[in-house]
Amino acid sequence: MNLENLSLADWQKAAAATLKSTPTGLFIDGDFVGSKQSIESINPANGEAIAAVSAGDEGDIDRAVSSARDSFAGGAWSRMAPRDRMDVMYRFAELVREDGQALAVLDTLDMGKPISAMVEDDLPGVAGFIQFCAECIDKIEGRVTNTDAESLHFVSREPYGVVGAISPWNYPMLMAAWKFAPALAAGNSVVLKPAEQSPLSCLRLARLFVEAGGPPGVFNVVNGLGEVAGKALALHQDVDKISFTGSTAVGKLMLQYAGQSNMKRVSLETGGKSPQIFLEDLPDLDAAVEAAIYGIYSNQGEVCNAGSRLLVERGIYEDFVAAFRERGREEFAVGDPLDPTTMMGPLVTFEAQKRVLGYIEKGQAEGASLEFGGGVPGGLEAGAYVEPTLFSEVNSQMTIAREEIFGPVASILPVGGPEEAVAVANDTPYGLAASVWTADLGKAHRMVRDLQAGMVWVNTYDEMDFTLPFGGHKQSGNARDNCMESVISYTQQKAAWINIAE
Ligand code: NAD
Repeated sequence: MNLENLSLADWQKAAAATLKSTPTGLFIDGDFVGSKQSIESINPANGEAIAAVSAGDEGDIDRAVSSARDSFAGGAWSRMAPRDRMDVMYRFAELVREDGQALAVLDTLDMGKPISAMVEDDLPGVAGFIQFCAECIDKIEGRVTNTDAESLHFVSREPYGVVGAISPWNYPMLMAAWKFAPALAAGNSVVLKPAEQSPLSCLRLARLFVEAGGPPGVFNVVNGLGEVAGKALALHQDVDKISFTGSTAVGKLMLQYAGQSNMKRVSLETGGKSPQIFLEDLPDLDAAVEAAIYGIYSNQGEVCNAGSRLLVERGIYEDFVAAFRERGREEFAVGDPLDPTTMMGPLVTFEAQKRVLGYIEKGQAEGASLEFGGGVPGGLEAGAYVEPTLFSEVNSQMTIAREEIFGPVASILPVGGPEEAVAVANDTPYGLAASVWTADLGKAHRMVRDLQAGMVWVNTYDEMDFTLPFGGHKQSGNARDNCMESVISYTQQKAAWINIAE
């Protein structure tokens, strides 16, 4: 079905039909099972409860980990011939595309993301990345080292075993796929704990994996609260690796849990406060302002690499602020996220709305200049909406320039030149992403070199490709998502020394 031409009425119909039949249990050993507790999923566009979803406790995590361990030890997946494993993953990607309408609608209802973003970005991202990971499977290679004639040394790569994946709500399926797809491709079994704010879509994904021919027990999903199910998973003695995407504060807990339990491997993708630097010699001010607007307002600003700090050289500062003010105020149509014309939905929860409005108040109190926005859009008071907001005259000591707001709030900071820009850009505990806008090739290269970030764009922003590693420096994490390396990161090396002397 072509999802690009559907109307609001089509999506409303799809939402009602999907909610009636979508699974809400825990997915363990290839089947949906109940649990003692449940969590309510609330639609942040209107505050209505949309589903009661099973919430796992320690016992449920234990059952899911046992199922994952048994499936791994049984070898039906972990020792499946690479080509056969690839076939299952290719089929899995196809089924995600076929189920696209239901999957898209669930994330939109759960966390408020505009349906157009689901159709254009998240869905193709999830299916495409599963396919990319499938393509990597028979490219995982070891090596033979150069030794004396009496021995043969080889180094192979094998899956860890049981991988625990803990994911956030801002791209519910995509962030989960960045974990489970490479882990599965490498031959591991997985227990996924999605964010409690967006529990529905990953249950369908796990079922599609089994429909594609994935053996039961290889991909389990246990929803639940972070401090209950997430913690039990990260502390579990029989989980070999935990792969986490979420806040830096909880990422630090993952390191502690690993130390307190079995020293499981920990990969972290955490928060950010990403700078975009606009220098006087940038090639095209219009294109730069457009990228700045998209860089902060896409996905309601709930993006780990949101370009939330706009560092603008003084010579173009006035023009930049004026252009952003003129276009940024209107460019993102705020409204019902099921409406295909909406570009900005509500924030994920009313609590998030309160937190973001609190940052806006603080920005004003600390002396930043509010150019537009700052409140709840008229007529949308029933949802967790915040207007696209712009501050100028921000300095790097203000709270809005230091803390991750995770909402549609842009801050423009004037800077004196490239050196000051790099110093301000790096003055943060985070190091996820950055960009530089300049027509000077040498300057661009020097700034790419000097910026402390895992991803630096030049004269563009927020572009991604499956082949390019995505991940942070400093307290933005230690892992790399996307790319062949991410598949490799779900394997461990084994060295073999074979004595071939007569
Ligand atoms: P969060 O840290 O609150 O939650 C993330 C996950 O951790 C959820 O599944 C949650 O249930 C679980 N969790 C919470 N407390 C836990 C605990 N004590 N033990 C175990 N698990 C626990 O983050 P969030 O609000 O869901 O997501 C927003 C954050 O994610 C932002 O900081 C954002 O920058 C970050 N993020 C980073 C990337 C990246 O690639 N670097 C991508 C997306 C989001």
